[in-house]
Amino acid sequence: MRTVKLADGTQVPVLGQGTWEMGRRWFRRRREIAALKTGIDLGMVCIDTAESYDDGGAERVVAEAIAGQRERVFLVTKVSADRATRATIPEACAASLRRLQTDVIDLYLVHWRGDVPLEETVDAFEKLRAEGKIRHWGTSNFDVADLEALGPGRCAVNQVLYHPEARGIEYDLLPWSQARGLLTMAYSPIGQAGRLLRHPTLLEVARRHDVTAAQVALAWGLRQPGVISIPKASRPRHVRANHAALALQLTPEDLRAIDAALPPPNEKQKLVIW
Ligand code: NAP
Repeated sequence: MRTVKLADGTQVPVLGQGTWEMGRRWFRRRREIAALKTGIDLGMVCIDTAESYDDGGAERVVAEAIAGQRERVFLVTKVSADRATRATIPEACAASLRRLQTDVIDLYLVHWRGDVPLEETVDAFEKLRAEGKIRHWGTSNFDVADLEALGPGRCAVNQVLYHPEARGIEYDLLPWSQARGLLTMAYSPIGQAGRLLRHPTLLEVARRHDVTAAQVALAWGLRQPGVISIPKASRPRHVRANHAALALQLTPEDLRAIDAALPPPNEKQKLVIW
């Protein structure tokens, strides 16, 4: 699978797996674990979760899915913004490590821009890094102004909403990040499988290639350099379909059709958050 590189040379495959809503229903747990394992077997080893997903329940599902193969996985989790203080980050991280049953998080993100001064969050992240509890840190739902306030070169990844109906970041945040080598992790890349997947243009493009609208949405997001996509699929067949989207090459005609139906932004748009 194509990979992108973090500043220290760590390679991350461009197609990962999300986990929002996993762990919520006991009767779905086995299928969720099977889905994540299917993805790992296919090389979708970047797994995104958060302390807030089902109050830690999603992290517990991830722990079961990666048991015995931790070293194959690039593990991402998030601290909620209200807990991103100097005093509370260490305990939040310790709790995530416990639930994930590991001793290191590959990428630790602050989930959204809250009221805590950024220097506090950054100091606490750097301390965790020095202690070997996290390997990299980053942000989620940060716009250009927030990233500028962070200062250059310190943040590894910014995770934001990005799919064909949510293209606001193409105006400024995405080119800004690409120019600085800051990786973008695209969340909800298939629009949470809502009306986007019934969009007539995506369906028309999908028919041309004998694929599904979900696969078109994924290939569309992955056409951008420096972007990692993290679709959530709690069914192994969805995971396999998402992996197959890596082979889909959208043509200039496809991209023009999508641009005509779902145009790119021509002015600054407020960053949309989930
Ligand atoms: P998404 O990945 O766009 O869509 C998930 C939905 O799509 C699920 O209902 C899933 O169904 C379905 N699906 C997956 N693959 C499919 C396929 N090939 N064909 C048809 N349907 C398919 O939405 P998301 O879960 O909101 O976003 C992905 C991940 O990003 C999250 O899980 C989370 O890890 C992260 N995220 C981060 C933030 C943030 O603030 N940082 C916010 C939102 C999400 P099944 O589950 O039934 O397979």
